[in-house]
Amino acid sequence: MQENMIIAAQQASAQASLSWQQQLSQAIRDPLALCQRLGLSDHWLPGARAGGQLFEICVPEAYLARIAANAPNDPLLRQVLPVSDETLTPQGYVTDPLEEAEHRPAKGLIHKYAGRVLLIASPNCAINCRYCFRRHFPYSDNSPSRAQWQEALDYLRADTTLHEAILSGGDPLAANDRQLAWLVEQLESIPHLKRLRLHTRLPVVIPDRVDDALLGWLAGTRLQKVVVLHINHANEIDQAVVDACSRLKQAGATLLNQSVLLRRVNDSVDTLATLSERLFDAGILPYYLHVLDPVQGAAHFDVSDDEARELVTQLREHLPGFLMPRLVREIPGQGSKTPL
Ligand code: SF4
Repeated sequence: MQENMIIAAQQASAQASLSWQQQLSQAIRDPLALCQRLGLSDHWLPGARAGGQLFEICVPEAYLARIAANAPNDPLLRQVLPVSDETLTPQGYVTDPLEEAEHRPAKGLIHKYAGRVLLIASPNCAINCRYCFRRHFPYSDNSPSRAQWQEALDYLRADTTLHEAILSGGDPLAANDRQLAWLVEQLESIPHLKRLRLHTRLPVVIPDRVDDALLGWLAGTRLQKVVVLHINHANEIDQAVVDACSRLKQAGATLLNQSVLLRRVNDSVDTLATLSERLFDAGILPYYLHVLDPVQGAAHFDVSDDEARELVTQLREHLPGFLMPRLVREIPGQGSKTPL
């Protein structure tokens, strides 16, 4: 244990001087390295190898530093450590649970809901979350070059009912700032677009991602800015995350959070109440609590709808209304998220 704490402290000081890109390139991607870094016994290695073959491991040091050593049940570790359950194929769990393939009018563009479209701004993430509903997404077919973005941009220009562009991925902030600044410039030249929304986990995973280059294009756009973060547990919010959120707010962004309800990560009233409180302390409003999308490889995270409803009923007794996330499910073909 002592040895692990020393390694963690050494890693933290070595990372302090690295850019976010360097931190990302040094993320742990190897099952053995992950188990050794966190002092996990050999018991976890076969599962980590089997699950990691289906969906690669990716955990940067800045996130690892928030995981307790030698604690297989750590709620942050559960989100990133592959386990043998990922190889199971229970009925109803599929590779494209939201049927997004049906809604792609142009490369890199998903249009499911009225008034807004989603652009796959980057195929990459800074972390590979084991429950991710896009863990099987064909990113290689949906990573447009600048020239290829024109088709998506023409689609947005032609549809004057669209008021909001959502940058998603992967994680949109995994793209470089030159590319993002260019894309945002294209979007703000479309007169009927009013809002730019970013769905990102990067400010949580590597808080140094919120640097001057990012803040420059974000603060400079005429579009209203909403950043929807993805935080599932209060332990994910350390001081560096709080500081990154503060920089985003100074750039004019409204900060919201969406969580996924995950078995043995955040499936208790106390955990969810603490998360909402900590989010608000960091200037973030709880927005959605999603039930798990039935993606192949993630069934072990499932919490039943009845249990989810009961948790939220009890949560209401602990929190003021403005700290209550909306419990929802995404159902393919529906015009919006469906409240549970
Ligand atoms: S950061 Fe988001 S898109 Fe990337 S793996 Fe995690 S949940 Fe999926």
